[in-house]
Parts: sequence; structure tokens; C-alpha cells
Amino acid sequence: ENGVAEGIPALPFPQPVKVKEIRHTKIFINNEWHTSSRGRTFPTFNPATGVKICDVEEADKEDVDKAVEAAKAAKRRGSPWRRMDASSRGRLLRKLAELMERDRLLLATLETLDTGKPFLQSFFIDLEGSIKTMHYYAGWADKIHGKSLPVDENFVCLTKHEPVGVCGLIIPWNFPLLMFTWKIAPALSCGNTVVIKPAEQTPLTALHLGSLIREAGFPPGVVNMVPGFGPTAGAAVANHMDIDKVSFTGSTEVGQLIKEAAAKSNLKRVTLELGGKNPCIVFADCDLQLAVEETQKGAFYNQGQCCTAASRVFVEETIYEEFVRCSIENAKRIVIGDPLDPQTSHGPQIDHRQFDKIMDLIESGKKEGARLEYGGGSVGEKSLFIQPTIFSGVKDHMRIAKEEIFGPVQCILSFKSQAEVIERANSSQYGLVSAIFTRSMDRALSLSASLETGTVWINCYNALHVQAPFGGYKMSGNGRELGEYALAEYSEVKAVTIKLSETL
Ligand code: NAD
Repeated sequence: ENGVAEGIPALPFPQPVKVKEIRHTKIFINNEWHTSSRGRTFPTFNPATGVKICDVEEADKEDVDKAVEAAKAAKRRGSPWRRMDASSRGRLLRKLAELMERDRLLLATLETLDTGKPFLQSFFIDLEGSIKTMHYYAGWADKIHGKSLPVDENFVCLTKHEPVGVCGLIIPWNFPLLMFTWKIAPALSCGNTVVIKPAEQTPLTALHLGSLIREAGFPPGVVNMVPGFGPTAGAAVANHMDIDKVSFTGSTEVGQLIKEAAAKSNLKRVTLELGGKNPCIVFADCDLQLAVEETQKGAFYNQGQCCTAASRVFVEETIYEEFVRCSIENAKRIVIGDPLDPQTSHGPQIDHRQFDKIMDLIESGKKEGARLEYGGGSVGEKSLFIQPTIFSGVKDHMRIAKEEIFGPVQCILSFKSQAEVIERANSSQYGLVSAIFTRSMDRALSLSASLETGTVWINCYNALHVQAPFGGYKMSGNGRELGEYALAEYSEVKAVTIKLSETL
């Protein structure tokens, strides 16, 4: 019982490296490191200690313009990237994956220092997923193809899948490297060039990847990075007339701003992966221990800072009390501590803004009459650690049942009938993921058809696979990441129609 998350093998554990100096802290354009046009830097902090890790060059509009210029030049007709065989593009992506594997300990350490997530999770989950994503899309590069269509009369129609052009990729802080690879891997596999805006809280792993991109041998300008803030660098990406597509992961509010900016600038294509208020439905005929462990993993994983967080757990009335009791017992196994310690399974929240928002929602839960069963407080003086928190007796109208918490708070609700729980599960503006726990596959499959979410997990949670599409219904977003489906988000389809002189 060491509290490590699922997916993490037993001893011996890999060890974090001692980072003496952060080597990559600048703006990355044309495979070169640049200082900020406005001469500004911003600090990045270790959320576990509050200590500054380093200062990073701050990109603003001028720097975004330079990055876009480089990305435009790199995709021009006749450029090395444009002329490169698709199989060679795949080899470059694979080379990058191999370099990430080589630097895996360092990347996992940087990810933990910058985000506060437990090191073993960084190493086994974030790095594993990121490297797998690069390999997966490396394999697609020379398999992307169009069709020959049976059109009317004396014509032949061929479709070609072409890159969209310059893609702006705006990354969140909760999975900095994983979200980075979910976006660059399909974008590059399809032959686009990219300008990446890492989250201001967590720029370090992205910048290290800049050095690996250069080492792998990508032509200059194919990948560019503009570390900086949302309303400045981020907005410059969303508004840019020469960016052809934006892919964004983050809050629904900013997602709306980005779509508006896209509409008002050049109607750039937009993919959005936003928030969730994800329902889990636990029937009395389930494997109770499995349901308890999976729903709780869903609620507390990454300190609850997941768009997929299992934040509304609906439990059938007849097993409600037992489910709550077992959930409390299960939560006692969680180890809060120094994220670099392999025993730790629960770290700090990302920053004070998120900390305050979560504590306010916990207070609202208490005030509105939910029963605080476990946790509910912060840990230590002036720290960003919040105890894993369980509320029972949660009602649909309460703020904790409606708003995205993005913190380690599990809300347990009860239900009587299947028809009732479908209505309640769907009564959210969000529609990202849902989960069903039952031994009846018949029930699970028919219920999955009724849930308005982009993913339905049956007897599992956070079961994300690079081969399967991921994305939201309703206000959880537009478009899909991962799998073959993501390729469509980074391609334009061209129809080439040929008139024949004779009937075929
Ligand atoms: P955010 O949406 O503000 O930040 C995400 C990214 O968008 C960052 O890179 C940020 O710099 C950028 N950004 C911010 N404002 C922008 C703008 N006007 N134009 C372009 N880019 C902009 O998220 P946050 O403020 O860090 O967190 C707030 C809430 O967002 C969280 O509490 C959580 O609910 C949600 N969130 C969701 C995810 C997710 O995975 N879906 C990730 C992070 C945060």
C-alpha cells in the first residue's frame, strides 16, 4: 500500500534527476533561442514549495508575429518541409520520440517541478503518454490519403488531404507535455507548421522539447514556441491573420474568446477541448470495490486538475451508504507530500488562484448543506496543498454539483431510477466524459447511447488511449483529439476533378 496511482509499476522506482540549472528559458523561433522583443521575463514557480524555479523570456504580440513569419516561411512551396517525403516526416517524429525517451527522467523531473504533480505520475503517465503519442502519429505520416470518388457523368474525382497551414497551439498547465504532444504530433504528421503558446505557469518541458526538436533535425520554422500570458501572447495567436487553425485546451470562458477572435479575424479553424462536469453512474449490481477505486481515481487524479475529473458520482440509493463508507476508507490511502518523493500520490494545486477557487467551492458545499465526509481543508501554512475532499448528500442545485471545481473534491449524489439519472447526468452545459459501473453490459450499452458526452467509460475511468478519439459534446468543446479522427482537424480536403473524353 504505497498509494501510487494505477499504471505505475512496483519497485524499483526511477529517481528524479538533480536539476542544477534550467537550460531552456527563451522564445524558440526558427530553431533558435530569442529574447523577448519587449525585454520582459516572467517567473515560473514550484507549486510544492513556492520557490521560483527560473525566469522565462516573455513573448508578446511582436514575438508571435516573428514566430508566425517563421512558420509561414517553413510551409512555403519549395521549402524543405514542404518537399520532404511523408515517410521522412514520420522519421523525424519518431526521432523526437526517441530523444524524449532518452531525456525521460529530466523531462519528468521538470514536469514535476513546474506543476507539482507526483514524479512517478509524470514519469509513467505523462511521459509514457507523450512518447506514445509521438510514435503513434509518426506512424500515420505516410498513411494519410484521400479517395477516388464515383462522381456523375464523365469525370473522375480524387480527394487529397493537405495540411491546413500554420497552426497555433495553446496549451494548459494541468498536463503541459501531454497536451503539447496531443497537438503537435497530429499537426506535424499532417505536414503543418506550428506556433505553440505553453501555459504561463508551466513552460519548462515545452521549452526543453524545443532543444530536442532542433536536435532531431526538424527544418527551422516548423516548430516555434512563444512562452507568455493568455491575454497577450495567447490572444495574439487567436487573432493572427496568418494563423490558419487554432487548437486550444483550457477553460470554457477562454475557449469562447478564442472562437470569437477566430471569427473576427480570418475565420481560422478552431478545435476546443474545454471543461467538464463529468457524471459517473454507479448501479447496485456493480463491482463495488472497483467502482469506488475508479471513481475516486477519477476525482482526485492530478489533484483533481483534469477536464475529465469525475466530479458528480451518482450512486444507486440501495448501495449509497456503503459506497460513501468505502470511498472514505479508500481516500485514507492517498499520500500527500513532496511530489519528488516516490511515495507521494497527491501534490499541491497549481497556483493561488486555483487554490482560492477550490477552497471557495468547498465552503459553498458546506454552506449549501452537503455533508463533508473527508478532508475539506488545506495542508500546512501558506501551502497550495488541499486535502482530498469527499462530500455526500450533494444535490443537483448546489454549486459543487454544477460548477467545474478543478480540485480534489468528490461529490457523491444518490439516484433511484435509470430514467431519472440519465436526465440528471445530462442536465449540464458540459458533455466531456461519463462513466457507468454495472455488471450488466446490456444496461451499460443502452445507457451509453443516452449520455451526451464524447466519451463513455464502462467499468473504468480515465481510460484514455492514443488510438481512440477524445473530445466533448456541448460546451466541453469542438472537434476531437487523438486517434485517426485528430488528423481531420489538421487537414484540408481538396477535391481534384478530371474531365475524361470518353465514358469509363
Ligand atoms: P485558461 O483557459 O485561462 O488557460 C489555458 C491556456 O489558455 C493558457 O495557455 C493561457 O495562457 C491561455 N489563455 C488564457 N487567456 C487567453 C486568451 N484570452 N487568449 C488566448 N489564450 C489564452 O485556464 P486557467 O485560467 O489557467 O484555469 C482556469 C480554469 O480553466 C480552471 O479552473 C479549469 O476549470 C479550466 N482549465 C481546464 C483545462 C482543461 O484541461 N480543459 C486546463 C486548464 C484549465
